[in-house]
Amino acid sequence: MSPPLGTPLSVEQAVARLRQSSIPTPVLEVARTLQAAGHAAVMVGGSVRDTLLGRQHGDWDLASSATPTEVQAAFRRTIPTGIEHGTITVMVGRGDQREGVEVTTFRGEGAYVDGRRPTEVHFLRELEDDLARRDFTINALAWDPIREQFTDAFDGLADLNAGRIRAVGVALDRFLEDGLRVMRAVRFAATLGFALEAETEAAIEGALEVFDKVSRERVQVELFKLLGAAQPSRGLAPMARRGLWPRVLLPIDGELEALIASCDARPPRVEVRLAHLLRAASPEAAQLEAVLDGLKPSRALRADIMHLVAPELERLVEPTTPEPELRRIVARLGRERLPDALDMLAADEAARTRVQAAVADKAIVAKELALAGRDLIAEGVCKPGPQIGEILAALLEAVLEAPELNDRQALLARARAEKDDQR
Ligand code: ATP
Ligand code: MG
Repeated sequence: MSPPLGTPLSVEQAVARLRQSSIPTPVLEVARTLQAAGHAAVMVGGSVRDTLLGRQHGDWDLASSATPTEVQAAFRRTIPTGIEHGTITVMVGRGDQREGVEVTTFRGEGAYVDGRRPTEVHFLRELEDDLARRDFTINALAWDPIREQFTDAFDGLADLNAGRIRAVGVALDRFLEDGLRVMRAVRFAATLGFALEAETEAAIEGALEVFDKVSRERVQVELFKLLGAAQPSRGLAPMARRGLWPRVLLPIDGELEALIASCDARPPRVEVRLAHLLRAASPEAAQLEAVLDGLKPSRALRADIMHLVAPELERLVEPTTPEPELRRIVARLGRERLPDALDMLAADEAARTRVQAAVADKAIVAKELALAGRDLIAEGVCKPGPQIGEILAALLEAVLEAPELNDRQALLARARAEKDDQR
């Protein structure tokens, strides 16, 4: 029997859990073939870590002593997906069942050069070399799914049991080598609900300048994973303590701790949480756009955030806001963004009910009117042209104030009157 999830695992229990895990058949197949050809092939990183934590993991990649050329030679179908990093994707199965397994050559200097047949000892040294280049100890655990061997060269299991993110080796050196790692550290703290080990956390401060040089797309990936976590505060707090925050987000004066805690209480949507953090800085529009664009968001996400940071949204949760104003605000926001806006504002039930009642089944934009531009033409109110837009805008104004006016006949009468006025 495997111990319940969340309880510390002994090495034997860790091995048992890995043995019982349902590793995808294609991964096993590729590992078996590589080993039969005389290479080492093991799982390392996220899949091993998450299996031990009892969490789902998406990518089941293999690390191998085989060079990319050797991997290509061992299989019929391969794709050099990341050959510059030593990664080959092996295609296994047929037709619809076809699946890709990524195999990455061990990183390290340990590759055998003497031409002799590699031994077990040799493979272990190469594997340990590879593991030494991984970012955190919990990501440096290896499992050979064929021989059922577990390799933990840096006490990663102890850190996993303690809920600790610790760099492999000297944290500052590792962060200076690759500036993205500081962001990965806080991201894993958030997604796993872990804490940064003291030296690892302190080292962030010394690596901020290297961090600044990292591509913003890569930073964004980590930040968005952090913001999608159950407890973003686990990562946001060290970001604030160690000076990472203002290099990624907007500086906040004042209640940063409360803001960080309030982020956990919002649903795990990047739109909601990022907008919540950015609007708390009450920035100038230009400053806000600069920070947001610095994160290289998609167009859709950028539009969502820019709408969600609008200060007027605060009015949605004020009990005194008149209904027509609620409708105008939701019209500017976009109806589809209302659920995110209410979550971001931590609206209570009363506020949600009030806003819903103001906009549900009510026209708030021209295309929701009971009368369309083509009706105006068909009914002979006006000819195609700019006047149509003007009349519809006037009708919408009336309907925003008094939703019961949104009736085809009533609008038609109004449109005729409107046209007479315009003459
Ligand atoms: P997840 O897939 O949940 O984001 P992961 O640990 O699988 O987590 P990946 O980015 O998929 O993360 O990387 C796979 C493995 O590669 C990591 O577990 C780690 O061992 C190693 N790794 C990834 N990025 C780095 C890095 N910047 N420096 C050192 N090692 C890294
Ligand atoms: Mg992964």
